[in-house]
Amino acid sequence: MENVVIIGSGPAGYTAAIYAARANLEPVLVSGMQPGGQLTQTTDVENYPGFENPVDGTLLVETMRKQAERLGVRVLMDEVTSCELSGDAKKLKTEINGELEARVVIVATGASARYLGLESEKLLMGKGVSACATCDGSFFKGQRVAVVGGGDTAMEDALYLSRMAERVTVIHRRDQFRASKIMADRVLGSDKIDVVWDSVVEEILGAETGAVTGLRLKNVKSGEVSELELQGVFVAIGHVPNTSFLSGQLELDAEGYIVADRTRTSVPGVFAAGDVQDRSYKQAVTAAGSGCMAALEAERFIDSN
Ligand code: NDP
Repeated sequence: MENVVIIGSGPAGYTAAIYAARANLEPVLVSGMQPGGQLTQTTDVENYPGFENPVDGTLLVETMRKQAERLGVRVLMDEVTSCELSGDAKKLKTEINGELEARVVIVATGASARYLGLESEKLLMGKGVSACATCDGSFFKGQRVAVVGGGDTAMEDALYLSRMAERVTVIHRRDQFRASKIMADRVLGSDKIDVVWDSVVEEILGAETGAVTGLRLKNVKSGEVSELELQGVFVAIGHVPNTSFLSGQLELDAEGYIVADRTRTSVPGVFAAGDVQDRSYKQAVTAAGSGCMAALEAERFIDSN
């Protein structure tokens, strides 16, 4: 049986692994099939302390992996599909490595992009609809694109896309952004970005041709419906926590986030770190901080059981 299995390979998972390894707990980290978490979908990170200049998100998380492996963490490229967490031996079923058993589990599986939920969005996914500007932006060089959302992700995506697209339109359902002022000001100050306020996407057009051709928008205040011609739509409306594999094992809140008190979940010996338990901060540095807390809690739990 392992001492500690950590599920997830973003800053929360790697920080937990680094601390657990340095406490001689010989942790195993299950990385998921798309390792690295949300940092791999961002470009310049300029708010993670320790880097004078912006650092590439993928590079940052890759460096965390190398640091963890140097300290002896075993990283398994695998996915946990289901689990049984109530006993002293926590059981994790994985896609490739069969069943893992551990005295302590740290869940750091993060969150994934939320979508609008339109049928046309599903049909045109990968054909002009994307939730990752840094992955797909370069397909839209010289074209017109929209970003849906008013948070920091939407601002970051709009600014990134404005470097290559002919025109970027941000569509937001209210008349003011949720994003931080510095990001919002950059967007509002760009001459390649315009904003459609108080509006929602009713339909993504182009399903019959197999490629996005435009959007049908509705102004939520006036009820007015309009169409916008473009080739790409980037959905940036927040995230949903990756907790489906837990199915009833841990207490979750109404939106599926793990309920945790100082990383302690409803089940003894199971700790949660990072965005999977964080509805409010959702930063790489807070995820890393909670990964550290989870590992310290894990160490205390093992010492006292
Ligand atoms: P947020 O939850 O902050 O913002 C989501 C946005 O999408 C909101 O403007 C919301 O509107 C809108 N929205 C939600 N659901 C819908 C819907 N169904 N239809 C239309 N619009 C919708 O998520 P983000 O991903 O932007 O950011 C998450 C966290 O990560 C934040 O804490 C953010 O600060 C942080 N972050 C920081 C970055 C940085 O500092 N460089 C970069 C990216 C993210 P409304 O405002 O009306 O609720």
